[in-house]
Amino acid sequence: MSVIVDRIAAVVGAAGLVTEAAGMEPYAIDWRKRYAGRPLAVVRPASVREVAGVIKICAETRTAVVPQGGNTGLQGGGITDASGTQILLSTTRMNRVRAIDPVNNTITVEAGCVLAEVQRAAEAAGRLFPLSLGAEGSANIGGNLSTNAGGTGVLRYGNTRDLALGLEVVLADGEVWDGLRGLRKDNTGYDLKHLFIGAEGTLGVITAAVMKLYPMPAARLTGIAAVGSPEDAIRLLEIAQRQSGDALTGFEMFSDFCLSLVVKHFPATRTPLRVRHPQYVLIEISDARSEESARSEIESVLAEAMEAGIVLDAVVAQNLAQVETMWALRENITEAQRHEGQNVKHDVSVPISRIAEFIAATDAEIRRAHPDVRMVTFGHLGDGNLHYNVAGPQEVPPDVFMREAAGLTRIVHDSVARFNGSISAEHGLGQAKREEIRRYKPALELELMRRVKAALDPLGIMNPGKVI
Ligand SMILES: Cc1cc2nc3c(=O)[nH]c(=O)nc-3n(C[C@H](O)[C@H](O)[C@H](O)COP(=O)(O)OP(=O)(O)OC[C@H]3O[C@@H](n4cnc5c(N)ncnc54)[C@H](O)[C@@H]3O)c2cc1C
Repeated sequence: MSVIVDRIAAVVGAAGLVTEAAGMEPYAIDWRKRYAGRPLAVVRPASVREVAGVIKICAETRTAVVPQGGNTGLQGGGITDASGTQILLSTTRMNRVRAIDPVNNTITVEAGCVLAEVQRAAEAAGRLFPLSLGAEGSANIGGNLSTNAGGTGVLRYGNTRDLALGLEVVLADGEVWDGLRGLRKDNTGYDLKHLFIGAEGTLGVITAAVMKLYPMPAARLTGIAAVGSPEDAIRLLEIAQRQSGDALTGFEMFSDFCLSLVVKHFPATRTPLRVRHPQYVLIEISDARSEESARSEIESVLAEAMEAGIVLDAVVAQNLAQVETMWALRENITEAQRHEGQNVKHDVSVPISRIAEFIAATDAEIRRAHPDVRMVTFGHLGDGNLHYNVAGPQEVPPDVFMREAAGLTRIVHDSVARFNGSISAEHGLGQAKREEIRRYKPALELELMRRVKAALDPLGIMNPGKVI
């Protein structure tokens, strides 16, 4: 072992250190298997004190540190380079719920808590932790904060940033910033937590957080509606927002091709609608009163939209099993396209009012350049966020198709820029989009980011090569 690793071992003990290649492998490769790093060691501290001790050693020895949570990130942000000199710092052993305050509606959790466990802990206290996403069984709250994750509840509850009230962070010199305040009002200068949220581990290691909780709704009900086009999906959104206001907690769209991939790769899938249509919308209503009230709310939205010829067919879930079946259609798309083969992914946002126009214009441009590709378009329509993915023609080998990836991405991202959108709506930049963002972000914004980085991490040891 190197001298650095020996010193780190003295801080975290044998249980907190992995150095053999086979043990490091699950941490070294990302979820999509696009990035394979070679860490000097995987370090798994069990407390904030241990994280601080490790970072101090790294600062003294100018050793790069790559924080990692559940390793479900999609931009390679939590993966080391291949030099064998970087420390991978996994927060997974720091997984305690430190406190729940149901009256203040807050939960204080350590960074390595799995998102689904935070949801369960909140539920056990009769409260809702509304952050929800497909990878919630593995993603950690520290990773969610560091990527400012979105998911399916953003429409009503906001991104992870909007759910955070306070943070505890180990800074790049090993000092601990205790900002674990559960306050909804605190106008005492710069709101420092927001620098670390969405920073993808480039400014410090988040070790704990105070997150907002909400009253548990009396009922959550889901319906699926078939529509003829993204335009009609947006018209349905307008009706749902006007009729239901804050009770509208989910509004997801996916194309019929997405559904066909889920049916193909998840043979147990049951499709609630008997006839296929071009697009589907999942609507979730949360009601503070009762299931009956939620049902009449969702039925009223669908009835108005059907009368206006917007919705072609619709089903409202009758029980929890049907709710889960409907959400599985949406949540299994990412996994289904992975089984289908290589695809070029884009996580983009544009103003909701222009989303249909964006899809039409970008689809047309892509088809002019690559007539046979298959569009896998789905997303959080209520947030203006599309996963605008492009799969190759079935007969073309994946490695041949992937040679077109850069050209396809250029078409999509240039189109996003023309629509005043963002080339990363919720997945972050990581290493995947670090170069790409330079084309689209104003030079002054990049410069301000560099100044923040230099102020908080002057030695450049925190997750180098990511974000900027
Ligand atoms: C099937 C699937 C569905 C998904 N759906 C969504 C979705 O709907 N919405 C969405 O936003 N994302 C989604 N994602 C992406 C991913 O789940 C999120 O980005 C998630 O927030 C990452 O959490 P993680 O713990 O896995 O982070 P990791 O992948 O471990 O790390 C992500 C980044 O955060 C940094 N980091 C991690 N922990 C810390 C810490 N404690 N301190 C400082 N930096 C840290 C890492 O260095 C890295 O840059 C999905 C992923 C998959 C695989």
